Amino acid sequence: MASDSRYQSLRAELAALCARYPTTYWRELDQRRAYPDAFVGALTSAGLLGALIPRAFGGRGMSLAEASVIVEEINHSGGNAGPYHAQMYTMGTLLRHGSEEQKRAYLPDIASGALRLQAFAITEPEAGVDTTSITTTATREGDHYRVTGHKIYISRVQHSDLMLLLARTTPREQVTRRSDGLSVFIVDLRQAIGHGLTVSPINVMLNNETNELTFDGLEIPAANLIGEEGQGFRYILDGLNAERILIAAECIGDGRWFVEQATQRACERVVFGRPIGQNQGVQFPIALAHAHVCAADLMRFRAADLFDQTQPCGAEANMAKLLAADASWEAGNVAMQTFGGYGLTVDYDIERKFRETRLYQVAPISTNLVLAYLAEHELGLPRSY
Ligand SMILES: Cc1cc2nc3c(=O)[nH]c(=O)nc-3n(C[C@H](O)[C@H](O)[C@H](O)COP(=O)(O)OP(=O)(O)OC[C@H]3O[C@@H](n4cnc5c(N)ncnc54)[C@H](O)[C@@H]3O)c2cc1C
Repeated sequence: MASDSRYQSLRAELAALCARYPTTYWRELDQRRAYPDAFVGALTSAGLLGALIPRAFGGRGMSLAEASVIVEEINHSGGNAGPYHAQMYTMGTLLRHGSEEQKRAYLPDIASGALRLQAFAITEPEAGVDTTSITTTATREGDHYRVTGHKIYISRVQHSDLMLLLARTTPREQVTRRSDGLSVFIVDLRQAIGHGLTVSPINVMLNNETNELTFDGLEIPAANLIGEEGQGFRYILDGLNAERILIAAECIGDGRWFVEQATQRACERVVFGRPIGQNQGVQFPIALAHAHVCAADLMRFRAADLFDQTQPCGAEANMAKLLAADASWEAGNVAMQTFGGYGLTVDYDIERKFRETRLYQVAPISTNLVLAYLAEHELGLPRSY
């Protein structure tokens, strides 16, 4: 229902793999706030977490459109790609902007799963969505940088060996454009934690391990700088388009799951002597949610195809994420309403998926910031932020 008819063999591969991990698996993990080790192991063995890594570095060399189908089908099966999806795309910054030496050192092991690069640290408590105002600072001292500052909501740190870090290397008052003077580093978490980096877990309403980080003079080898010093914001933006398209695909998977659950429930649940889905007040919201999921799906593939052709896709990636997040949230609400009281019961998984898909109104980019981007860059309206 509602998905592109391309990639059927990939969808079938995912459906077979996901069938081994039913909703009871995800529900139990959610209740324990536990990491899906077994599922991630199965995905890694199948080479699916290394989907975007070129074959020359041991990956499956897939397009972003294909990779988006992987996360879509995981969420469509009732699972959640969020706790580990960053293993697929965080390496994009390294792939596109790292040196040959860095790529050879890291990518084959990331592709095999021997190295986990699932964490990237951008958000800060004071800066919030105003990323260029971050104050975590990396200062060059001979053959290393010394890092001080704070990050918040940094996910998967406890399940990663490496982390990408965005830090200021030139003070904001000394650069012409506020996006200049930011740099990206690879942090080896195995060496950093306890030696200048402190990790404090944050409890959130869904099963997503996230943390507050304190950098107190952490030393990072200068060789771990990606690309040119001061150009990091540009490198991160490249990666964010890929992330937005993959998150859009996850939302489409959620939306399809909600619509299918609601449809089935509306056909089976009999009240007043007839299926509740015979009432237009029940069936129209489901049909409308379905239409919105289908429309968002088209924008997801439009954005992914542009990305794969290395064409500019900032507007399309943002619109795909906005439309898909809204469609999955609408579908989640409709499923909740269709299930009545049962939607709130843990055993039906609606409330779990409802909590999971709600995140995408806020992260990795909030709806308002997408709208502000479109208003300014697509429509030429005055910058509002
Ligand atoms: C579970 C979870 C996991 C996350 N994982 C990561 C991660 O791995 N790495 C990472 O770097 N970050 C991560 N984040 C952070 C996430 O990207 C941010 O929470 C998000 O970008 C919003 O930033 P904020 O929370 O600081 O909101 P704030 O900046 O406090 O903004 C609050 C609200 O105000 C709105 N707003 C602010 N300014 C304006 C304006 N000028 N115009 C209109 N609206 C405005 C925002 O859109 C938002 O809705 C995660 C967050 C969560 C909750």
